[in-house]
Amino acid sequence: MLDLSGKVAVITGAGSGIGRGIALALARAGADIAASDIDLESARETAELVRALGRQALAERVDVRDGDALRMLANSTVRKLGRLDICVANAGIGRFGSVLTLPLEEWQAVVDINLTGVFLTVQACGREMVRLGNGGRVLVMSSLAAEVASPRWAAYNATKAAVRHATRSWAFDLAPFGITVNAIGPGWVDTPLLDQIPGRSGDRADFAQMVPLGRVADAERDIGALAVWLASDAASYVTGGYHVIDGGLHDGGAASVAAVALRELAAQHRGDDLLAALEQREAELRGQSA
Ligand code: NAD
Repeated sequence: MLDLSGKVAVITGAGSGIGRGIALALARAGADIAASDIDLESARETAELVRALGRQALAERVDVRDGDALRMLANSTVRKLGRLDICVANAGIGRFGSVLTLPLEEWQAVVDINLTGVFLTVQACGREMVRLGNGGRVLVMSSLAAEVASPRWAAYNATKAAVRHATRSWAFDLAPFGITVNAIGPGWVDTPLLDQIPGRSGDRADFAQMVPLGRVADAERDIGALAVWLASDAASYVTGGYHVIDGGLHDGGAASVAAVALRELAAQHRGDDLLAALEQREAELRGQSA
């Protein structure tokens, strides 16, 4: 078990989904948590869940578009929890629409929160970490959507690609101060955001069909585990990286179709019987392509 005892983490968008999952995973590893969200009530719920794990927690209402509020968050975290070691710039939104019709306000909202909000978060935490002089870990929430474009997703695609690339530059800026900066690139994660994906019912099984590993990610168990590793001593030499965590989704379509067939075989057979079934399937595929 990786140990974050004595560390303190600030998390934006901590009231829901991935932010809450990361808060709980870091807390289970021993960290105290400053949970911030534009929705104070949800941040308070996360803080309550962290306290139930025996860790200290703060809850603050912070809109990541507000640099002053982020600076106050970083500062009050140090005053109330004693340190600031880990910063998770997680808050983000999705707005979808064709270039022909997407209103400027929606484009701007995505840029303001997913890109400028991440910059302001990294700046506020980075300045506080440099002031304290203990180094630190910055995690930026990008997405597989940084790499894979989809129709009507341009605002989201562009901002996630932008923070992915900015992470590499911020890693240079902060390395001299012992601060690492890494981007996380999740595929589908089981959070309320999935209910907003256009053209899909929100049915998790529908998303899971696309994923070679056959399921959507769990915010705490999967994304939280990567965040704990990146925040731990084990990752002290890792910076400027973009860490995809997507159950194999990045190679998409054809791979997923093949994986569905193989998962069915794996569910029906065991041991030598499974190997024989795989040989038979391979022979059938060769026969089809001959
Ligand atoms: P979510 O909607 O469950 O949580 C987002 C949180 O951010 C909410 O609590 C919301 O109140 C908060 N928030 C929104 N605007 C804010 C603002 N201006 N200031 C502060 N907080 C604000 O979504 P999620 O799936 O947990 O998404 C978290 C991050 O993970 C986002 O950056 C998202 O783009 C990214 N992501 C999600 C998935 C996925 O499949 N769910 C995949 C890849 C990346």
